[in-house]
Amino acid sequence: MLKGKTAVVTGSTSGIGLAIARAYAQQGANVVINGFGDASAIERERSAIESEFGVTAHYSGADMSKGAEIATMIADAENTFGSVDLLVNNAGIQFVAPIEDFPVDKWDQIIAINLTAAFHAIRAALPGMKARKWGRIINTASAHALVASPYKSAYVAAKHGIAGLTKTVALEAATFGITANAICPGYVWTPLVEKQIPDTMQARNMTKEQVINDVLLHAQPTKQFVTVDEVAALAVFLASDAAKSITGTILPIDGGWTAE
Ligand code: NAD
Repeated sequence: MLKGKTAVVTGSTSGIGLAIARAYAQQGANVVINGFGDASAIERERSAIESEFGVTAHYSGADMSKGAEIATMIADAENTFGSVDLLVNNAGIQFVAPIEDFPVDKWDQIIAINLTAAFHAIRAALPGMKARKWGRIINTASAHALVASPYKSAYVAAKHGIAGLTKTVALEAATFGITANAICPGYVWTPLVEKQIPDTMQARNMTKEQVINDVLLHAQPTKQFVTVDEVAALAVFLASDAAKSITGTILPIDGGWTAE
């Protein structure tokens, strides 16, 4: 379905981003993976994508908190592959603390990586998409783009911001064969969720089991974590021709969380 197309997926050395990059490669797209982590583990993931799916996979170490590095990542992808057709703004971090104790540098970092990075990447990729009259922009938002939780001020602000950015881009790009949508997962078991458990234990004075059952899964009527493969399948559908009229949406995939 995506043969001859190129996908840039930010924050794809792990979790949801890696699942989306692999799913697009499975559909035939060349991919640029991005993110931090152990160099040999990243190289293993990159070469596995090439050997399993017969596509070309490149790695960009661009830091999503730095606008110039993001612009270079998109330009390099266009120069190497000839186009960036699918852009998934997925890199994200979390920090959990009451607002009066929330470290200012953490606020700045979360807004930069979870929100401003998407602006920089879209700004760089959109002219090429418009010229070719085809594009798919998918922003990994969160149920926290629709509802709030205590102690996550920066994350909730960034995710609500990405919802607004998604809608604006959808309107600006609508007549160019380009769609822009935000996927809003509930809790997905990835390193991002695992890492916030200790801070949540502290902020709420709870055990690990209480955090998992009474905070995380409490939010989800299904009482199950969403899987990375389910999120990737939605990203594949949004890339398809059947989804060409779906644009500007803020799409929950959250086990019913935001229905409450
Ligand atoms: P993860 O920690 O597994 O992956 C995050 C990725 O972002 C990693 O590849 C990491 O290296 C990369 N990253 C972090 N900072 C970066 C930076 N400065 N520059 C480049 N890359 C950077 O987390 P995940 O759960 O897969 O999260 C992916 C996205 O999904 C995030 O935007 C997150 O907010 C969102 N999300 C996650 C959940 C969940 O429950 N896991 C729910 C809703 C939304």
